[in-house]
Amino acid sequence: MNKNILIIGAGLCGSLLALRMAQRGFEITLVEKRPDLRKVTQDAGRSINLALSDRGLRGLRLAGVEDEAKKLCIPMNGRMIHDTKGNTFLSPYSGRKDEYINSISRPGLNMLLLDEVEKMANVKIIFNHSCESVDLENASATFRNYNSKEETTISADAIFGTDGAGSAVRKNMFESHKFLFSFSQQWLSHGYKELEIPASENGEYRTYKNALHIWPRGEDMLIALPNLDGSFTVTLFLPYENSEYCFANLTSPEMVHEYFNKEFPDVVEMIPNLAEEFFGNPTGPLGTVKCSPWNAFGKLLLMGDAAHAIVPFYGQGMNASFEDVVVFDEILEKYASEEKINWNNLFKEYEALRKKDTDAIADLAVDNFHEMKEHTAMEIFQKKRKLETAFEAEFPEEYYSKYSLVTFKESITYSEAMKRGRAQDKAILNLLDDGKIKDEMSLKEKLELVKTETEAILHDDEVAFG
Ligand code: FAD
Repeated sequence: MNKNILIIGAGLCGSLLALRMAQRGFEITLVEKRPDLRKVTQDAGRSINLALSDRGLRGLRLAGVEDEAKKLCIPMNGRMIHDTKGNTFLSPYSGRKDEYINSISRPGLNMLLLDEVEKMANVKIIFNHSCESVDLENASATFRNYNSKEETTISADAIFGTDGAGSAVRKNMFESHKFLFSFSQQWLSHGYKELEIPASENGEYRTYKNALHIWPRGEDMLIALPNLDGSFTVTLFLPYENSEYCFANLTSPEMVHEYFNKEFPDVVEMIPNLAEEFFGNPTGPLGTVKCSPWNAFGKLLLMGDAAHAIVPFYGQGMNASFEDVVVFDEILEKYASEEKINWNNLFKEYEALRKKDTDAIADLAVDNFHEMKEHTAMEIFQKKRKLETAFEAEFPEEYYSKYSLVTFKESITYSEAMKRGRAQDKAILNLLDDGKIKDEMSLKEKLELVKTETEAILHDDEVAFG
C-alpha cells in the first residue's frame, strides 16, 4: 500500500481533491496556511464571489456535493451591459434556456467542502501551517506553525500541491534545479479592486439580480456579481498606470468620485462607501502562470492554480481546478485497484491529457479580457452575439457559441472548445463584415453559411498547423 496522501492548500481545489480521494479510501492529510475560515471573520477585498458553471459543477457532482453547493448559487442568465448614460441591455449567455452561470460565495463554497471533508474519518486537516519547503525526491514537506513558529515535517507516499497561484510547492520545484522546469508568469497591465453594492434598506437588490453586470469602458471595466444577502460584489479592473484613469492617478476621494461619476454614473449612488472601500481594499494583480512538468519524481503533483493560474475573465479558474479533479479521478480509476500505485505513470498520464486544456483556457481568458472591456460595447460584436443567441435558441443541438462551448459543454475539452470557438468567431465576424449575412436570409440559411465558413477556417488551420 502506498496510499498516504499529503495535500498542501485547503482552498477550493485542495478541499475537493481531499474529499474525492478520501471517498476512494486514501489516507489524507490536508494542510492549510490560513486559519480555519469557518472560525474567523473574512478579509475584506478578497475575491468574494465567483462564477460557477458546468465544468465546476461536474467536479462537485463527482464528490456528491453539487446539490448542497447549488443552495449557495444565484443563477446569472446573461451579461447586463451598462453604458455611460446608465442605459442597460441584457445579453443572454446562451439561446438555450437551461444554460446559465451561477454566482457563488467563495468562502461559502470552501466552507461547504471543508465540512464535507471533515466528515471523512480518513482525513486529518491541519490549519495555520504554512508549507516552507518540500523534499521532492522523498515526498515530505516542512511546515511552519503560524502561532508557535515551530516546524513540522510530514511525509507521504504522494504529495499534491494545491496551494494556489503563488504556490510555495511550485517555487520549490523551480528552485530545486534537479530537473528541467519550465515556468512563465505574465502579468496584465491591469489590477483589480473589490467594492460592494450593499443591499437596500429593506434587504433588496439595488439592480437586476440574475445577471453578471458589466460596465465596459475600453481600457477599464467594472463588473458586479450578486450575493445571497441582496448585495453585489463589484470588481474594478483598471490599468496600474499610463492612462488618464489608472490606480496610480486615483489618489484622492475627489478623484475617485470624479472618475466614477464620469464612467459609471449609475453605480455611484449604489456604493455608499465608495472612496472608503477604494482606499481601504487591496489592489490585486492579474496574471497567467504556466509551468511544466507538473510532477516531480513521481512523488508530487501540482493541481489547480498552482499548476495553471489564469486571469479571471472567462470565470473559469475555479471551474478548471474542479475539472482537474475530475480528469485526475478518471485516470486514478485505472490505477486505484493496484496494490502499489505507480504514481509516476499516473502523474505523467494526467499531465499529458490535461496540460493542453489548461493552456487553452489560459489563452481564452486573456482573449475574453479584451472582449469584455471593449467588444461588448461594439456594434459588430453585439450583432454577432444576437445572431449566435438566435442560432442557439432555434437550433439548440446544432450551434454552440465559443462562450457556450467553454462554459456549458463540459463534454468537450477546453482545447477543442478553443479551436472550434475561435474559428466560429472568425467566420461570423468575416461574414458580417463582408455583408454576406443579409437580413432577408432565413436563420437556417445564415447558420449554414456560418457552418461552411467555420469548416473552411478549421480546414485551413489544419493545413497550416498540420
Ligand atoms: P486557491 O483557491 O487560491 O487556494 C489555495 C489555498 O492554498 C489557499 O487556501 C491558501 O491559503 C493555501 N496556501 C497558499 N500557500 C500555502 C502554503 N505555503 N502552505 C499551505 N497552504 C497554502 N474562477 C472561476 O471559476 N470563476 C470566477 O468567476 C472567478 N473569478 C475570479 C476573480 C478574481 C478577481 C480572481 C483573482 C480569481 C477568480 N477566479 C475565478 C479564479 C479562482 O479564484 C481560482 O482559480 C481558484 O481559487 C483556484 O483554486 P485553488 O484551490 O487552486 O487555489
